[in-house]
Amino acid sequence: MHYISTRNPQHRVLLGEAIAQGIAPDGGLFVPESFPHFVPRQFDGEADLVAIAQHLIAPFAAGDALLTEELADICRAAFDFPAPLVEVPEAPAPLWVLELFHGPTAAFKDFGARFLAECLERIRRNAKRKLTILVATSGDTGGAVAAAFHNRPWVDVVILYPKGLVSQRQAQQLACWGGNVRTFAVHGTFDDCQRMVKEAFLDRALAETHQLSSANSINVGRLLPQMVYYAYAGLELWRRNGRRANFIIPAGNLGNSLAGIWARHCGLPIGEIVLSTNANPTVTEYLRTGEWEPRASVATLASAMDVGNPSNMERLRALHPDFEELQGQIGASSVDDIEIRATIRRDAHELGQVWCPHTATAAKVFRRLLARGTRGDWVVVSTAHPAKFNDIVEPQIGRTVEIPSSLERLLSLPRQEKELEPTLDALRADLQS
Ligand SMILES: *Cc1c(COP(=O)(O)O)cnc(C)c1O
Repeated sequence: MHYISTRNPQHRVLLGEAIAQGIAPDGGLFVPESFPHFVPRQFDGEADLVAIAQHLIAPFAAGDALLTEELADICRAAFDFPAPLVEVPEAPAPLWVLELFHGPTAAFKDFGARFLAECLERIRRNAKRKLTILVATSGDTGGAVAAAFHNRPWVDVVILYPKGLVSQRQAQQLACWGGNVRTFAVHGTFDDCQRMVKEAFLDRALAETHQLSSANSINVGRLLPQMVYYAYAGLELWRRNGRRANFIIPAGNLGNSLAGIWARHCGLPIGEIVLSTNANPTVTEYLRTGEWEPRASVATLASAMDVGNPSNMERLRALHPDFEELQGQIGASSVDDIEIRATIRRDAHELGQVWCPHTATAAKVFRRLLARGTRGDWVVVSTAHPAKFNDIVEPQIGRTVEIPSSLERLLSLPRQEKELEPTLDALRADLQS
């Protein structure tokens, strides 16, 4: 299997190279040249994430001898925590929650980060230069990447996050590492952080001193493992109910959504895919009008989704170049902060479910779809544990949210970070000092 740049199919590499490069040399994003096709029966007898991951990802690694040989070990190491599919019996229509927050930093990004780390560890085994992973984060990516790469001697991690625009506990999770992890609180937005990373990759001076790689959801090594939990949940409900389940996915940079769309594209039993967004309108407006208009992000309660120029849209458009076809493939609906608060409050009382603010957008969209008469089996994709956003959630539900033990440990560590102006010059100066 080859990966090609969204901007030029002449850039054609195998999986290991696509992961190592992160972004294509022309600034495009790597996408599979073609997709494998599965039927659900091929997964018979495979009931856990590790087994499904090995089977599903194998064709995506084809041709890459090292990753093919190591794939079983990589999957065992990366998928060492579950993604429970939990039924919500109190819901007014068939509803499940796909809980993606049981990893070390309590958000779905642990899946991608851990798989990427395991791949890179093997790809870099004989490398002479140390790798520097540069990551812009709107809150959860940085923590997941730091957790996945911390204390691996072949790599340094540099995290850029927008100061003051992530939750207290997220900020703590970004800055508690030290060692091979450097954390910068940038005076700017997530879009500034993301722009700085993109510029850094194209910067010649930095290329001389640092071997840079990305760990953002632009890295295909994060997208592939995210397909696995969609396959798992889709197969689980297909086996139980004989129907394709529909998914509502909280969307920001569209990495999680794209993985679901790719999984369906490969033939996994997945029905409708609806993206839930916060008040940032780029995606919903695009799907309504066909006009792609990136804009500055606005701050919302679902801060990990505060993205004004979602980079993975480029991959989605590469998959469906025809706008009307793309429009037929996904729905999208936006949820504002007032609705996020109200949904957290209401569903805690009526469904006994405590959502993080991101997951609440999906739960709200579920209610909206029901009100419009939608039927079928629905899965709300729960992207983070509500304890990460206790400052938002607890006032709504009127009690404290219990903290998972992994998160509790990170919260007790000292903070180590530096502030940074939102420019490439400032970043370069700091990295080269
Ligand atoms: C990153 C994140 C999202 C958005 O995911 P994308 O892949 O950027 O669309 C949603 N919820 C949480 C909790 C996140 O951390």
